[in-house]
Amino acid sequence: TVVVGVLALQGAFLEHMHMLQNIPSVKEVLAVRTEEQLNSVDCLIIPGGESTAMALIAERCNMLEPLRAFVRNKPTWGTCAGMIMLADEATGAKKGGQQLLGGLSICVNRNQFGTQKDSFETMLHFPTVLGENRPFHAVFIRAPVITAIKADDVEVLSRLESKVGQTDAETIVAVRQGHLMATAFHPELTRDNRLHQYFVHLALQHKQ
Ligand code: GLN
Repeated sequence: TVVVGVLALQGAFLEHMHMLQNIPSVKEVLAVRTEEQLNSVDCLIIPGGESTAMALIAERCNMLEPLRAFVRNKPTWGTCAGMIMLADEATGAKKGGQQLLGGLSICVNRNQFGTQKDSFETMLHFPTVLGENRPFHAVFIRAPVITAIKADDVEVLSRLESKVGQTDAETIVAVRQGHLMATAFHPELTRDNRLHQYFVHLALQHKQ
């Protein structure tokens, strides 16, 4: 079994903690705010929220370096703002930029789809993870998108159906690179815990 941490500095961490309740191989779910708590979990979810705020809070709590060290070796899943935090590079940041954790060899663009009112829901296919005919109801809230993949071992897990005028790269919304995973949407806002189950399965494999 695994102990799953959810970074609880800012954003939708409670919803993720609820989603992990009924997964049999989860021994414990911990809200992570300190280095000590971080060191006691096997894997970590970085929730959605606001990545600039999350980075500033992490910096003030002296959590940036511990988090960077953690994501180098331990399974970590970033959702929405969490995906931005895990990216090696982000565009669309405020003037002066923002701190990232990095680790995932991708470039993301923040707020790709516009402002809050441009949030949307759609069905996504995860052919390698969930099977061909079992789509996932995805909620996008001021979501980022993956605009570039920078290493051969980054696996695309899901894409949006492309719209007119969109380049192929601007449709990637979920990836995995070894022990790291990122999704542009909020998987904790539905009742479907299949992606949480998949992440826990990755964490179990990594532990063995
Ligand atoms: N737009 C937010 C950011 O840039 C992310 C939104 C979200 O996590 N729902 O951090």
